[in-house]
This record gives sequence, C-alpha cells and structure tokens, in this order.
Amino acid sequence: MKPKILIVEDEPAIADTIQYALETDGFDAICLSSGAPVVDLLQKEAIALIILDIGLPDINGLELCKQIRKDHTLPIIFLTARADEIDRVVGLEIGGDDYVTKPFSPRELTARVKAVLRRTRTASPTSMGASVFQIDQSRRLIQYFGETLDLSRYEYRILKTFIRRPGHIYSRDKLMEMVWEEPEASMDRTVDAHIKNIRAKLKALQPEIEAIITHRGRGYALKEDL
Ligand code: CA
Repeated sequence: MKPKILIVEDEPAIADTIQYALETDGFDAICLSSGAPVVDLLQKEAIALIILDIGLPDINGLELCKQIRKDHTLPIIFLTARADEIDRVVGLEIGGDDYVTKPFSPRELTARVKAVLRRTRTASPTSMGASVFQIDQSRRLIQYFGETLDLSRYEYRILKTFIRRPGHIYSRDKLMEMVWEEPEASMDRTVDAHIKNIRAKLKALQPEIEAIITHRGRGYALKEDL
C-alpha cells in the first residue's frame, strides 16, 4: 500500500505541484486548501505524513499543528514563506518534524518527506516491536508492558507526548501548552499532580522502573532506554 500524504496548502499551484511530485514518487496524496477539515480527516483516513502550510486562510498552521498533536503523532512538515516563522517552528518545538521554505523544489520536498518518514518510522515507539509502550489512538489507550493503563484524559495526553519523544525534556509550560485546551485556566502545579499520578500507575505495573525522569528546574522526560 502506498503511504498517504496530506497536503494542506491554499495556493492551488503549489498544492498541485507537490501532489504531482509525490505521486510520481510513489505516494498517494490528498490536498486540502484550508485547515478546518484536517482534524476530521485524520480520524477517517490513515495519513502517513502531513505537509502543512503555515499561512492558511482559516487558521495558522502552527496553531493547527498544536490541535493535531493533541491526538496524533504522525510527522508534520511545515511550509513557510517567511523567515521569521522558522524561528517559531524550530524554537518553540510546536511538534513539527521538519520545515521547507518557499520557494522550494518539489524534488527537495519529496526528499524531505522520505527522510522524515524513515526517521519517524524507526523512532516511533508505537511501531517498535520492543517498545514497552503501545498506543491505541482510536481507543485512546496506552499499554505498558502489555497491560492497559487506566489513564484520565490529561494523563493520556501527557504520557503520549512523552512516548513520542523519549528523552526529550518537556517543561511544565510546554506540557501545559501541548496538552491542555485552556492552559491559562490551569495552575503549574496541575502538571506535577498528573505526572505524579502517571508515575504511580506505571509503578503499580513495574515497581523497579523509573519511567519518567525529573530534570530539576527544566521539566520532565521519558527515560530513553526503556
Ligand atoms: Ca498559504
């Protein structure tokens, strides 16, 4: 089966060029000209990767990425026309996997798509046979050593965020921003409370393993070599 790539780009000429290049290279490509239908589409279609324009007519691509990241771990490559957006993509760790600046050659973009798919395929814990975690996105369940964890909605989102990038340190602010719908409504401490709960649930199954590591003054990370 061909990997299906979703192109979200409002300029038809660019979208067509990308679609043609991807299909020539053996991918299936779907185009959307606005951000609104993306989240729905992801529920219905098995998309391997998203190429996401930052300057969309209805929503900023970075904002859309945050929404996607609440439920999906698939790789995202940003398209940007502005140098000042690159800082945000790279610096804020919005959850994008790569970016390409306009104008770009279709060949360069398909090369990036292949590279990102290769990288995320090997790094993705959900597809690694040896991984101690298994994520079932459709049922919003996470298994730890083959046992299903009983997680609240936010615990699920936090743990999924960690699993996506083992070893990566997330600050409380970052977790809040990625996981909560209304970050400003919650207190810093809430993150700590959820982490404490997740730890207790993981420890209940594997008392010997310290899966979530506290980096003092910096945040939390999932242990890398679990
Ligand atoms: Ca645009």
